[in-house]
Amino acid sequence: MGINQSAIALLSAGLDSSLAVAMALKEGVQIKLALTFDYGQKAAPQEIKQASRLASYWKIPHKQVNLPFFAESGHSSLLRGSTNKELPRLSLDDLDNLEASQKSAKAVWVPNRNGVFIEIAACFAEQLGASYILVGFNREEAATFPDNSKAYRESLNRALSFSTANHVQVISPTELLNKTQIVEMALKLKFPMEFLWSCYENGTQMCGSCESCMRLKRALKQNEVPFDDYFANPSV
Ligand SMILES: [Zn+2]
Repeated sequence: MGINQSAIALLSAGLDSSLAVAMALKEGVQIKLALTFDYGQKAAPQEIKQASRLASYWKIPHKQVNLPFFAESGHSSLLRGSTNKELPRLSLDDLDNLEASQKSAKAVWVPNRNGVFIEIAACFAEQLGASYILVGFNREEAATFPDNSKAYRESLNRALSFSTANHVQVISPTELLNKTQIVEMALKLKFPMEFLWSCYENGTQMCGSCESCMRLKRALKQNEVPFDDYFANPSV
């Protein structure tokens, strides 16, 4: 990354993708477009609303892309109308328990989701003359979500050198950080935390008890950030 480089960002308004954008902007990367996907996930309305607020805050163009076919797979408990309705609940202790996290990851897995998102972003990147696709991978979840890892990103980059004329590359400034370090970065960059949506559900506030909320809560707690206002269930 560097000055005069431009990117298409994947922005769900979750902690990782939002901070990936904040960090890239800080480094002088021009974000030509931020994409938010509605793939039938329960949290889509809040993710789209918050991503749109973030894009306005940063003054970057924002686009919603609808991918209704994911819902037809129907198994992931992330999806509206899923056959598997219950979202897994993990305790703070479970977050570092590989077996419990793998079980939770399996329940929310959506087949090839990140792969599809990145390939779509690559179309926009070539069309708009952007060199990069900006994603928010993180070290903490790479163990249970292999499509969140450096190895996956590097293999995508090899594939994209064949499928895009301008050899678009995927970058992820958050990739080697865990969530606590990403929140630390958010504080350093004065990121507006009230714009985040890191929850698998779609309430008026983040639920505070799904795995994604628990990971955000732990990271906020470890950075001594008060979080009662962000969650419907703030207890840990
Ligand atoms: Zn939640």
